[in-house]
Amino acid sequence: MTDTGNTITASHGREHRVDIVIAGGGIAGLWLLNRLSALGYSALLFEAGRLGGEQTLASQGMIHGGLKYALGGALTGASEAIAAMPERWRACLRGEGEVDLSGLPPLSHYYYLYAADNALGSLTSFFASRGLRGRIERVQERDYPQAFADGFSGRLYRLNDFVLDTAALVARLAQPVRERIFQHSVEHAECSDEGVRLDLDGRSLVCTSLIVAAGTGSERLCTALGIDQVPMQRRPLHQVVVRHDYPHPIYAHCLTGIKTPEPRLTITSHPTGRTQRNRWLWYLGGRLATSGVDRTQADQIAHARDELKVCIPWVDLDKAEFSTLRVDRAEPAQHRLLKPDNAYAKRVGQVLVCWPTKLSLAPDLGDRVLAQLPPPAYSDSVDIDLPRPPPATPPWV
Ligand SMILES: Cc1cc2nc3c(=O)[nH]c(=O)nc-3n(C[C@H](O)[C@H](O)[C@H](O)COP(=O)(O)OP(=O)(O)OC[C@H]3O[C@@H](n4cnc5c(N)ncnc54)[C@H](O)[C@@H]3O)c2cc1C
Repeated sequence: MTDTGNTITASHGREHRVDIVIAGGGIAGLWLLNRLSALGYSALLFEAGRLGGEQTLASQGMIHGGLKYALGGALTGASEAIAAMPERWRACLRGEGEVDLSGLPPLSHYYYLYAADNALGSLTSFFASRGLRGRIERVQERDYPQAFADGFSGRLYRLNDFVLDTAALVARLAQPVRERIFQHSVEHAECSDEGVRLDLDGRSLVCTSLIVAAGTGSERLCTALGIDQVPMQRRPLHQVVVRHDYPHPIYAHCLTGIKTPEPRLTITSHPTGRTQRNRWLWYLGGRLATSGVDRTQADQIAHARDELKVCIPWVDLDKAEFSTLRVDRAEPAQHRLLKPDNAYAKRVGQVLVCWPTKLSLAPDLGDRVLAQLPPPAYSDSVDIDLPRPPPATPPWV
């Protein structure tokens, strides 16, 4: 055993104790590791693959206040549960929040919502209502972002939401806690009165609490731990990636002609690393992605081309290249596969199982987990001779 300051190096055949072990290095695990470390917990995180590995890097990076859940024309439990999140994240970006994200520039400071001429019907008066003051604001033509100034005709609104580059977010979250992150899958653990014992290739680690934050992997890990009280659901998406030479980014929900209370297209733009004309790719979600789960890739691409002709008719995409990405959202099981409104954290003995259910809800997840943890008991961190997970890259790279 080597003691370097307050870090102890774990070696084979010895038992080491920490307050918390986190399984999973997506937004849930990384957010919690930052919060717990700042509060003095001795906490370690194990990621089976790459940091941000599944949903987090595949997400659209929108930190939103839930207005897209109110497109039926009324505020709902879902829209209100998440309303405070953008401000909590903005405080973090200023270095004044519960997690320090200072120095992380948003991809876009705002998110927009639009529909072609007269296509909004009664939503027009709903968006102008007092209850939504401060959350949505009509944009005048002279203030249009460049992509809309190029030929859009209709109503454009600015939401109090913003967009993050998820790979940069994952890297920023890992930065202050990198000594506590290791690449290793958590496959099994033994719970007893002494704590939760993990065997990491011959190194024995005992923690007071094990946090299962492994996204879709939490289902398998819960089964291995004998936990059957927290069933998981998967809600699949079939996202579309568009590579084109249009030089301006778009961050907007298209509501033109919607028939269900869901954006027709949810568009985010992401840097390709190239310069000038191929600078941005568009990543498309919304109704296109939820309804597209039963389409083949070819059908989904054909459908996306048609949707873009309706939603962004002023941009010529004939030469654009399309690809698709299938990814499941992992959540606690709900009646009829409905979307959960809040983050979720449930304690079963010494194990806490959690799903943020939205990137935006990471602060809510932090609150819920902290409320269920005993105070820290160990001050040392443990260094283990295991590799570090490779850096995060978005799925389209
Ligand atoms: C296409 C898509 C778009 C989305 N867009 C948005 C959005 O714009 N805004 C928003 O708020 N939300 C969005 N979401 C939801 C959001 O992305 C997810 O709720 C969130 O990223 C889930 O994070 P997580 O940490 O729980 O899971 P993940 O990001 O999936 O991370 C889980 C990690 O656990 C690891 N792991 C698995 N098993 C083990 C194991 N046994 N041991 C150790 N590690 C393990 C995996 O490798 C993975 O890295 C989107 C989701 C999808 C799928």
